[in-house]
Amino acid sequence: MYDLIIIGGGPSGSSAGRVAGKNGIKTLLIEKKTFPRYKPCGGALSEHAMSYLDFEIPDDIIEKNIFGGRVRFREKSIDYYKDHRLSVIVTRSLFDNYMLEKAKEAGIDVLSGEKVKDVFQHEGHVSVITECNSYKARYVIIASGSQGRLETHVRGKYGKKEYGVCLVTEIEERDDVIDNYIKDAIELHFGVSGVGYGWIFPHRGYYSVGAGSVMAKHLPFPKKAMQEYLKLNGFTERYKLKGHVIPCGGYKRKLVKGRLLLSGDAAGFVDAFTGEGLAYAIRSGQLAAQTIKGNMESRANIRQLGDYEKKCYSEFGEHLKYSLIFARLMHYAPERSFNAFMKDEGMLNMFLDVVTFDRSYKDLVKWIILNFKIRWLKKE
Ligand SMILES: Cc1cc2nc3c(=O)[nH]c(=O)nc-3n(C[C@H](O)[C@H](O)[C@H](O)COP(=O)(O)OP(=O)(O)OC[C@H]3O[C@@H](n4cnc5c(N)ncnc54)[C@H](O)[C@@H]3O)c2cc1C
Repeated sequence: MYDLIIIGGGPSGSSAGRVAGKNGIKTLLIEKKTFPRYKPCGGALSEHAMSYLDFEIPDDIIEKNIFGGRVRFREKSIDYYKDHRLSVIVTRSLFDNYMLEKAKEAGIDVLSGEKVKDVFQHEGHVSVITECNSYKARYVIIASGSQGRLETHVRGKYGKKEYGVCLVTEIEERDDVIDNYIKDAIELHFGVSGVGYGWIFPHRGYYSVGAGSVMAKHLPFPKKAMQEYLKLNGFTERYKLKGHVIPCGGYKRKLVKGRLLLSGDAAGFVDAFTGEGLAYAIRSGQLAAQTIKGNMESRANIRQLGDYEKKCYSEFGEHLKYSLIFARLMHYAPERSFNAFMKDEGMLNMFLDVVTFDRSYKDLVKWIILNFKIRWLKKE
């Protein structure tokens, strides 16, 4: 009998595992893949995300330091830089593997290459059924990302407007060519991918090129959007495209049921405008493990696990809620909003502060409404 079983060894599961291990919680983490494994992702790890870690990311995992962004809207483009680092670029297979090693270092058991098929709640414990075994724990954190169905033990399936799809490919290129194209910045191209964007992120030896949207109903043909985006940027060969579901953050969702807690993408914690999920995956995993620790120590009723929802919503729930409002504002009348966004350095500057969590989306939304008034956002 374990105190805690964590399902999924992505950034959320491994962050939960590290906190659990450091607090002496007897923990088993079960991951269906053998690490290092590929994960479709742009690989932008924000300063905000790193601020939650109690260790540094080693230099050999950091491929680029990012100080700015190139924002494109249709044929217009602007480069904007800050005087401090906004994020780093990592390759997820290596980053996730490192995060899992940091969880193991804290003393938890990790079982890789075993898929969890189902979970069942009983009086006083949960049984976790894998392809070949069954395990018991007093608590379970479901950190299995956005593509499973284990989270439906806690809440219903996503509605159509609550998730989207992103496609991504990695295109090899010489580092000097990449630096020549974009240096110390990432490129976001709006107006090409529904209520989302296309991106070109510079990595070590390759570009991550992708397109997608967190709202599937606004991008019914993501593959077509991706192919057009590649062509638009002169990538004319045949590339292997990898698709992945991405939840749309900003909706209030149930996170706890009995002894089950959801974290990361399984909880739906993704910025609705930028698609950033790593910061929230890390933090929610940590908060889930801390809440369990509190419940074990106080021997309180398991209803107290509901505190986890409160903690998530008070730390970043409002931010995600306003990311959704901001996304809707920007994409409601994109010609006007993105053209204004690109002309207005003040707004770009504020937006980059939001990305690093130095300013809230709420502030940005208020500022937009004050400065441009509602008529700016209305269609002619
Ligand atoms: C194309 C794309 C690009 C993105 N780019 C960025 C970006 O640049 N920056 C950013 O911050 N965010 C980005 N995101 C979002 C980010 O990838 C996610 O928010 C983040 O990976 C969530 O972490 P997680 O640990 O919750 O889930 P995951 O990283 O998906 O990890 C879940 C783990 O659970 C395992 N698992 C699943 N089911 C089971 C099971 N039944 N049994 C056992 N194990 C299981 C999986 O193998 C996986 O290892 C992107 C998302 C997509 C789709």
